[in-house]
Amino acid sequence: MKKKFIIANWKLNGSKELLNNLLIPMVDFVNINKITSTLIIVPPFVYLDRAYNIVMNTNIMIGAQNVDIHSSGAYTGEISIAMLNDINVKYVMIGHSERRLYHKENDLLIAKKFYIIKSYKLIPIFCIGETEQDYKSHMTKKICQQQIDVIFNSIGEHAFHNTIIAYEPIWAIGSGKIPSIAFIQDVCIFITSYILNKQKTSKKSFFIQYGGSIDENNIKELCTISGIDGFLIGSASLSISRFLKILNVVSHS
Ligand code: PEP
Repeated sequence: MKKKFIIANWKLNGSKELLNNLLIPMVDFVNINKITSTLIIVPPFVYLDRAYNIVMNTNIMIGAQNVDIHSSGAYTGEISIAMLNDINVKYVMIGHSERRLYHKENDLLIAKKFYIIKSYKLIPIFCIGETEQDYKSHMTKKICQQQIDVIFNSIGEHAFHNTIIAYEPIWAIGSGKIPSIAFIQDVCIFITSYILNKQKTSKKSFFIQYGGSIDENNIKELCTISGIDGFLIGSASLSISRFLKILNVVSHS
């Protein structure tokens, strides 16, 4: 299956220099190789506008790593969805395990963020996934289901229309460990059918990604997974040579 999206989460990394070193060759690569997947680059807030100016008029899009639940007001230090919209951001990542863990973001707060993103017609990149303990206790599907249900319960039956869902086992993020191909496929198929069932439709209008320790060595095997629409890549997206190797494999799969 052709992969629709490749997402690069830069986390708390970047500088003006790194931005140029990563994005200028990426634009060239995408143009020369006629890459059809949409690349979504997710740098820290302060580089969003600069990144947009480098990639505009290509199929590289810009995403944000977070958003506040309010669209304006006395909320010092926050960034609103209206501001992101104003600077051409199209995608917003929410529910990432690092925000759940280090910033104590709970399911309800994440649902509010989901709601405000949808109300501005931007696209949420909704991250879900289980801890290592849950994985070992065979709780993965149950955990994913619970995280999805919070969104259905607060937003309604059509919540996931035009949304990206990133299945990211927490224990795989940044650890160098990934689940087996069969396991990832099984979980992604489960997530798809669970959402379709809840939406009472057979027409899939959302996208499923896998993320967690993807690199230039395991990407070929990951591309054999059917039923997923792309990948979310963290640390390997911070090296242009590694990232272009990954893109090369994805574009030929
Ligand atoms: C992530 O941050 O979502 C991620 C997948 O990171 P890494 O690729 O470094 O595991």
